[in-house]
Amino acid sequence: MLSKPDLVAGFNGERNRHNVGIHEFVHLIDMADGGNSDGIPEILLDRAYVLPWLNVIREEMHRMQNGQSDINPYGLTNNAEFLAVVSEYFFDNPQKFLEHHPELYKYLSMIFRQDKAKRV
Ligand SMILES: [Zn+2]
Repeated sequence: MLSKPDLVAGFNGERNRHNVGIHEFVHLIDMADGGNSDGIPEILLDRAYVLPWLNVIREEMHRMQNGQSDINPYGLTNNAEFLAVVSEYFFDNPQKFLEHHPELYKYLSMIFRQDKAKRV
């Protein structure tokens, strides 16, 4: 699942790099709620937020399709890949992510229980 050079490259401190470690880790979290990777990490996201989260995903995907987003277009593959690529962005460059995607930031800080941008 993970190659060591990719894993090391993801944590070398450079911004905006593809981070395979975070990406695959997020898929595992996503699957931990019953085996399917659907972009809704039920073990971490309160049930009340599931529908609003799906709306946020849909709206952002719409912007991505129109070339109005700086999120990795691989996230358009499906909701699971969307969650994985926005999580990479969230952990790699929280400040910029908060600036460009305040709504997504709100959900990811809720899912991962950390306010990354404020810690720096
Ligand atoms: Zn993936």
